[in-house]
Amino acid sequence: VTAAAPAPLVGVDLGGTLVRAAVATGEASHAEPVRHPTPHAAPPDAVLDAIAAAVREATGAAAPAGVAIGIPGPLDPVAGVVHAAPNLHGWSELPVQRLLEQRLDCPVAIENDAHLAGFAEWVAGAGRGSRDMIFVTVSTGVGGGLVLDGELFSGFAGTAGELGHTIYQPDGPPCGQGHRGCLEGTASGTAIARRARELLAAGEASSLAGLPADKLDARAVADAAADGDALAISLYAEAGRALGLAIGGFVNMLSPEAVVVGGGLINAGELLFAPLRRALPEIAFAAPLARCRVVAAALGTDAGLVGAVAWAVRRFRARAGAPAPG
Ligand SMILES: [Zn+2]
Repeated sequence: VTAAAPAPLVGVDLGGTLVRAAVATGEASHAEPVRHPTPHAAPPDAVLDAIAAAVREATGAAAPAGVAIGIPGPLDPVAGVVHAAPNLHGWSELPVQRLLEQRLDCPVAIENDAHLAGFAEWVAGAGRGSRDMIFVTVSTGVGGGLVLDGELFSGFAGTAGELGHTIYQPDGPPCGQGHRGCLEGTASGTAIARRARELLAAGEASSLAGLPADKLDARAVADAAADGDALAISLYAEAGRALGLAIGGFVNMLSPEAVVVGGGLINAGELLFAPLRRALPEIAFAAPLARCRVVAAALGTDAGLVGAVAWAVRRFRARAGAPAPG
């Protein structure tokens, strides 16, 4: 007689272009994910149907014990409602948890995607082994997530961890939300590309001057900086410094054991991290800074899916009927 196989736990990463769903094989490991295009321009029902289809394809004949899903936007994980998802059409105050539970006939947990990427780094990445960790993700925008006292911290409304909208310079450039002078207005891919265009238009010399406008993004600036272009280096230096000052303030506020910095911009390596580390002690107090490691994220673009899987295991392991292996 063999024991019944445990019911699968499933993590889902909902992006603007792809839905990825994968069955947990351990606390933070998963089977080969199912990938479907996100019908982002279609009404919400079409996206929810695509999510449910991806989950069913991932689990095959087995009914899932629980599904956790990371969503790109502010949401309330307790009420199960997504307030907004800027890259998806019509997602406004959408009761995603209930709508997915109806489709999947199992419990569903929704969480912000940056929160889950941070949770993944805490369980299995650069924040592993810490009790208190701040995750900062720097790509198109600047987001974040908090693990405090060994728990994902979402705050009273569920939206905690929006670290990118901290004031850096009161009269600085606006972020994607239109705030003037917040961190995201200086230290994001969008901000770096915009600043490069402004400086080139003002006649600054740079190897970027020959690039067509649609090719001038943060990655192109990073490539130019790696080749020694002074203007490109200065843009990453300013972004790194802004991040370092902001993170120094976060260290003062929470005294975390680890600050993990992820997102596409960390591919620039020391161009970003050297000025970031230099700025930390300008604002962080010596004692909490000496006890805190500020490090690059380890999981790359897989963090969102790993985090959703890890969150499904954390939330629904007891319903799976057997401990997840690993
Ligand atoms: Zn802002």
